[in-house]
Amino acid sequence: MANPPLTPLEIYRVLEKSNCGRCHLPSCLAFAAAVVAGRSKLADCPLLAEATRERLAGKLKTRADLMPDQAEFIDRLEEKVAGLDLSSIASVIGGVYRDKRLIVGSLGKEFQVDQQGQLYSECHIIPWIKAPLLSYITHGKHQNITGTWVSFRELEGGMEWQNLFTSRCERVLRDLADANPDLLSDIVDLFMGVPTKGFQADIALILHPLPHIPLLICYQAPDEDLESELTIFFDACCGVNLHIKSIFTLSSGLVQMFDRIAKIHS
Ligand code: SF4
Repeated sequence: MANPPLTPLEIYRVLEKSNCGRCHLPSCLAFAAAVVAGRSKLADCPLLAEATRERLAGKLKTRADLMPDQAEFIDRLEEKVAGLDLSSIASVIGGVYRDKRLIVGSLGKEFQVDQQGQLYSECHIIPWIKAPLLSYITHGKHQNITGTWVSFRELEGGMEWQNLFTSRCERVLRDLADANPDLLSDIVDLFMGVPTKGFQADIALILHPLPHIPLLICYQAPDEDLESELTIFFDACCGVNLHIKSIFTLSSGLVQMFDRIAKIHS
């Protein structure tokens, strides 16, 4: 089993803690977080001893290893699809079978998968959707939506990916929502989001990137001295219906798409 990836705290411990700014970041802690998120390199801190840098670099590699090679991964998934009876799994995964293709809804758009695992859609095919969608179809286990929301870390394997999820998904989306007050309502309109109440948030909305993978975005806007907060929750069934890596890929792909939308609208 792979070692758990480095956390910002583990990197922070070996830094000078002088907050000198030579890494072009305001503090050593910010630098540690940036390294874990992939935005800075260990070599950007000139005060870090070479031996320490090499030791940490080896551990950082284990994080990169967690990301499957996308092309090979998709090839394997296409092979798996070829061995499935798409007509019998359609209703189980919340899709339908029509004209020898499995039809699956994603964010209000229809995606079709043929027996060779090829993807078709009337809308532009978003590259990041293919791997999670095929993973979802070929996943051995399946559970219907439970109505219970859990955090990312509570999903099976979520602890290991939590730091990356926070830095690449929740923080990025929070910053986008801070800078673009209309973004979340635009997302509701564009992607068949469902505004919801009953959560401690200024805005709470549910999206369905895959039929039985609902996620809940809760956003609390900044208020005087209080920073904004954004948390993404998942229905408890998500951990059964999709591997944690695919949940991460799906979530980070969504956030990148929202980023592009925010840039177009600004
Ligand atoms: S250059 Fe190194 S010591 Fe200086 S603030 Fe950045 S991480 Fe800290």
